[in-house]
Amino acid sequence: MTKLADSFQRPINYLRISVTDRCNLRCVYCMPPEGISLMSHNDILTYEEIFTLVKAAAELGIDRVRLTGGEPLVRMGLPDLIKMIAGIKTINDISLTTNGILLAKNAAELKKAGLMRVNVSLDTLKPERFRQITRCGQLEDTLKGIAAANKVGLNPVKINMVVMDGVNDDELVDFAQKTIKDGWHVRFIEYMPVTGESSKTIDLVSVNDMKKRLEFLGKLEPFKMDKGNGPAKYFRFPCAKGTVGFITPVTEHFCYQCNRLRLTADGKLRLCLLREDEIDLREPLRRGASVEELKEIIIKATAAKPKGHQLAEGGVHKGRPFSQVGG
Ligand code: SAM
Ligand code: SF4
Repeated sequence: MTKLADSFQRPINYLRISVTDRCNLRCVYCMPPEGISLMSHNDILTYEEIFTLVKAAAELGIDRVRLTGGEPLVRMGLPDLIKMIAGIKTINDISLTTNGILLAKNAAELKKAGLMRVNVSLDTLKPERFRQITRCGQLEDTLKGIAAANKVGLNPVKINMVVMDGVNDDELVDFAQKTIKDGWHVRFIEYMPVTGESSKTIDLVSVNDMKKRLEFLGKLEPFKMDKGNGPAKYFRFPCAKGTVGFITPVTEHFCYQCNRLRLTADGKLRLCLLREDEIDLREPLRRGASVEELKEIIIKATAAKPKGHQLAEGGVHKGRPFSQVGG
């Protein structure tokens, strides 16, 4: 039973850790073409520092950890961190969100280190479009990454597709068919508006609209996923081995059931993806604060977790780019 809760009595048991702000892609919905100004290496937490914070958080009831980025696999030695976290007895779920480009090379070692499952971001099945959306990536690399993750048993491999009007929404059916024919677990995510030039041209497709466009494939039956009780609502088409998930950060926000905290690569505890409130954990960590002191800071920060974000009222995310906060 989690001990950590915020002032709205939401139990908090999930920590998303951004291990780097670096990325090997420049997705149009996430980054400007020139990238973002990067943190200095000294500002980024070492693996030992991340481990100390996870241990403190675990003593408070955090039992699920997700590693994200930037692109987490561009940081050297990630399996070392996974091994350290896997050694904390009360952590019972360690997952990774990745663009999959480097996954084929690393899947076996990640699994051996203790990683349990992966979410792979993939917004198109068309090579040329993949290059346009990511501005530099090769579809083949991500597809090989997905195959490798399945092969070594990083299950369930979930595919995250950000659905954008006029960009990739014509592939909704192709992705849905992958759940029927190939057993994929696909999650359709509403695009979240962010500041920046490239994002001005991107429009949201609502989950309601997505569902209508998929209706002709059959009735979507609600489905309970074993692992990962996050914000997605899962369904299955008749006779499909795979599942379809929908994530509605904009049209039907799920803040009331938010169970998560985020740790940025530079050691800030972030209380909400879409709000700027952050608490510095790096400073106390580097001045030698005890685990008890760190726990006190986490408890106090968590109590101040905001009730929700404001995207549904037409707001735009203006704070740090998602690549610095982990998405
Ligand atoms: N690089 C890794 C990846 O792409 O999976 C991890 C970091 S990325 C910031 C985490 C997630 O945020 C990805 O699934 C990505 O699709 C999602 N994301 C980024 N910008 C978004 C936006 N504007 N709207 C919705 N999802 C977004
Ligand atoms: Fe990189 Fe992930 Fe952002 Fe794409 S979504 S630019 S892969 S951090």
